[in-house]
Amino acid sequence: MNVQSIIGDTPLVELTTFDVPSGVRLFAKLEFMNPGGSIKDRMVDYVLADAERRGLLRPGATIVENTSGNTGAAIAMLAAARGYRAVLTMPDKVSKEKRDALRALGAEVVICPTSAAPDSEKHYVSCARRIHAETPGSFMLNQYDNPLNAEAHFRSTGPEIWEALGPAVTAFVASGSTGGTISGVSRYLKQRNPAVTSVLLDPVGSVYHRWFHHGVLDPAEIAPYFVEGVGEDHLAQCMDFSVVDDVLRFTDADAFAACHHLARHEGLLCGGSSGANVWGALRVAHSLKGPATVVTVLPDSGGRYLSKIYNPQWLSENGFGPGATSERDDDL
Ligand code: PMP
Repeated sequence: MNVQSIIGDTPLVELTTFDVPSGVRLFAKLEFMNPGGSIKDRMVDYVLADAERRGLLRPGATIVENTSGNTGAAIAMLAAARGYRAVLTMPDKVSKEKRDALRALGAEVVICPTSAAPDSEKHYVSCARRIHAETPGSFMLNQYDNPLNAEAHFRSTGPEIWEALGPAVTAFVASGSTGGTISGVSRYLKQRNPAVTSVLLDPVGSVYHRWFHHGVLDPAEIAPYFVEGVGEDHLAQCMDFSVVDDVLRFTDADAFAACHHLARHEGLLCGGSSGANVWGALRVAHSLKGPATVVTVLPDSGGRYLSKIYNPQWLSENGFGPGATSERDDDL
């Protein structure tokens, strides 16, 4: 058994401590139980295996990617296990725990300003492209625009959910960045049962919500938020809105409140996007009448965010203390 062979087949648990309408069940797939600690192991393993098969990735070559952290962890893990060099670019808002984990696995980490505009040379995506162009024989996964990203979820995450719950699945709900998870899982589930509803969750400050509802890509929409790994400042080609039925917006406060509930009442210590996903799954659950089953994923663990989401001082310094108000505006 090697590290690749234990990716996927994650447990699916029922969340029972949230208030849901009678007959509505809520399930979460524990993606933080992948060996690299997140849902991204699936996509990276799938893309690298494909590149190896097609001769695009040769022994000892360099893998370059822009990543908010979890893709980097998966690349660093699989590069170490398969003998590749890894160079990862990321915005400076990514937690120190994540950066240190990548360096511990032997990856080289290049930190770029979060505030850099998407078309600027300093933006972490442009930076990865430049390193890739300058490094002979290097391979870039290009996770935002690579159809294999969504295909990884079409071939693994989606089928695993269907195998576990079958036709009982009513809705799949998930936040997204590249869109690989929501696009791949939704496509698979809808192929099995076209009545399955798919809902994308988008942080306030990201462009997807407005794009989906109004067809407008508004740079003024882009604003900082704390939840890591989800939302975007541009449209990823991998995000397939043809399999998405609705997009809901969440705030950091929504996500963090759900994280705290998951930790204290379900015993699940998760990252911010998991909180967002459960917040959204609950919203969807409340729009349904039982019998219904809502499924989501918990993309990564809270261990990487102890100094933020689970630190009372950080929370109150950043406006998430008791009595904090949500700045989400559902009319937008
Ligand atoms: N949650 C976290 C913590 C992530 O790192 C990511 C990937 N950036 C996602 C959710 C979203 O996944 P996807 O890129 O498949 O949309």
